[in-house]
Amino acid sequence: MVTSIRENLELVREEIRQAAARSGRREEDILLVAVTKTRPVEDVVEAVRCGVTSVGENRVQELLEKRALWPDGDEPEWRLIGHLQRNKARKALSAASAVDSVDSPELAAVLSRIASEEGRTLRVLIEVNTSGEASKHGVAPEEAENLLHGILENCPALRPEGFMTIGPLAGGEKEVRKAFALLRTICETARDNTGLALPGLSMGMSGDFGWAVQEGSTMVRIGSSIFGARR
Ligand SMILES: *Cc1c(COP(=O)(O)O)cnc(C)c1O
Repeated sequence: MVTSIRENLELVREEIRQAAARSGRREEDILLVAVTKTRPVEDVVEAVRCGVTSVGENRVQELLEKRALWPDGDEPEWRLIGHLQRNKARKALSAASAVDSVDSPELAAVLSRIASEEGRTLRVLIEVNTSGEASKHGVAPEEAENLLHGILENCPALRPEGFMTIGPLAGGEKEVRKAFALLRTICETARDNTGLALPGLSMGMSGDFGWAVQEGSTMVRIGSSIFGARR
């Protein structure tokens, strides 16, 4: 590795700062979620030492392994950002502080039922497939608000905080920003219709987080720009 996690984080924060300034926003309004899939726990510890407060993992098992290896000292907020199967819901609840990838009423119901049994609540985001790419998880844009209403009516232990999307993997600035603008519109409409704050607008990864911030992202999920390319 040529550059250090600390230096990479500085560069990422500077880019967030600039994108925020360009759109009249404040850097503090954007949460940096460090995405640590495939990385050893030492890398996560180093990121936290450099000020990272929130970590995103794709797989429940990997998240549990990292927490088991965590040294003494404060843990970050652990967010599950990858597709979650219903049969792993209980494990997910034991591992994560928030699930950002709720993509079906069935998954929401199982998470809520288990959280209720355990006498707790769970913060969630609804994942939306804004690009229509077949490889992506997430509900269709026109289903996003239905899922939110379903959660509000049927899932008393869930605390919906907003929406999440992955930008189109193919496509230039125009297509990518269009997908992010769509998620922002979905969130704004849902705020108007529910009266909820819904502060979470999770969009932007290493390749596109500058555009995401300009489109209103409040949570960027960044892996390779901090930790280097994954093998
Ligand atoms: C891997 C991943 C990221 C981070 O991707 P990078 O391109 O490495 O920044 C963000 N969000 C999700 C859902 C991911 O799976």
